Amino acid sequence: MKWANLAGLAAGLPFASAFGATTNAAKAASPADAPATTKAASPETLLLKDYRPQSIYKIPVTEIAKAKFPVIDMHSHPYAKSAAEIDQWVRNMDQVGIEKTIILTMTTGAAFDEIHRKYARHPQRFEMWCGFDLAGYDKSGFGPSAVKELERCKQSGARGVGEIHDKGKGLISGQSKAPGMHPDDPRMDSLWDKCGDLGMPISLHVADPIWMYQKMDRHNDGLMNAYEWRLDNQPNIVGLSGMIDILERTAAKHRNTTFIACHFANLEYDLARLGEVLERNPNLHADISARYAETAPIPRCAAAFYEKHADRLVYGTDMGVDKGMYQVTFRILESLDEHFYEIDQFSYHWSLNGFGLSDGILKQVYRGNAVRLLSARDKA
Ligand SMILES: [Zn+2]
Repeated sequence: MKWANLAGLAAGLPFASAFGATTNAAKAASPADAPATTKAASPETLLLKDYRPQSIYKIPVTEIAKAKFPVIDMHSHPYAKSAAEIDQWVRNMDQVGIEKTIILTMTTGAAFDEIHRKYARHPQRFEMWCGFDLAGYDKSGFGPSAVKELERCKQSGARGVGEIHDKGKGLISGQSKAPGMHPDDPRMDSLWDKCGDLGMPISLHVADPIWMYQKMDRHNDGLMNAYEWRLDNQPNIVGLSGMIDILERTAAKHRNTTFIACHFANLEYDLARLGEVLERNPNLHADISARYAETAPIPRCAAAFYEKHADRLVYGTDMGVDKGMYQVTFRILESLDEHFYEIDQFSYHWSLNGFGLSDGILKQVYRGNAVRLLSARDKA
């Protein structure tokens, strides 16, 4: 169990906790989530959240300190705040083999400019993507004003747009929200088209994993994370399947615009459907960020999916900046290890398996597809 205690490792880093505590590892490291007390450790009272099984199998354990091939991380956020933290992140990237990181700032205006300025100390290593200004989405004149701010962000250095969310209640770009307005809404047409004209790809997060929409009971397969991010209690929400339909309608309506659906479009539980969606929509890609633990329980199906759609999948993380985090993703993609736990990294109680992807597929997913997608912008 070489990576068994990532939370502990993360806590030992000088600024691990300063990164906004958005990762599960950071959460798990907090005292409130500390391992069970002696009393709670009794099998009669042990809670699922405290369950920390350890593999008993004497089987191969693959240590991967650095990715087998250079990597472009297509899904990250401005976790590092200070110059020193940004420099440390670059050192981590060097050590694990990340050539470049796309920072999805989800901001516009002065907030975007500020983040862009901070990361400009490493222009070859980071790329800044802006958000949308959705203010006034319910008033006439919304399209032109939002397009104007998009053009201004591009002038200020934005190379793409993201992460734009719609988990079923309407579009969200960071603090900017448009309740009830979904990506296929005609009010969004001019913005998506302008992204295409400007050669700005869009990182679009629709829906969430299926178990967040399901009943929070003992049958829920992903209960630990589902309960924390639950959507089953949200009234008037568009469900997962409906959001996939919206994603497809949006991609079909704007063929000149490149969309990257975040997190396998949350179809990791139904990869056959994701394959059909990708095949129907040539301007759609999917990033694999933050769905390692969701795909690692089904290594043969996952590997077959990677093989079939290798030209449409791009690497991403969305889980902070720690070296151990990157290394876990490499272990899942590259090794054929079986039944290993990363509960503190991912918060699921189940064990993981590696996919053992071939060199050709790794090269495409790690970097090749990203390069193709990013360089296509120069032709726009
Ligand atoms: Zn993200």
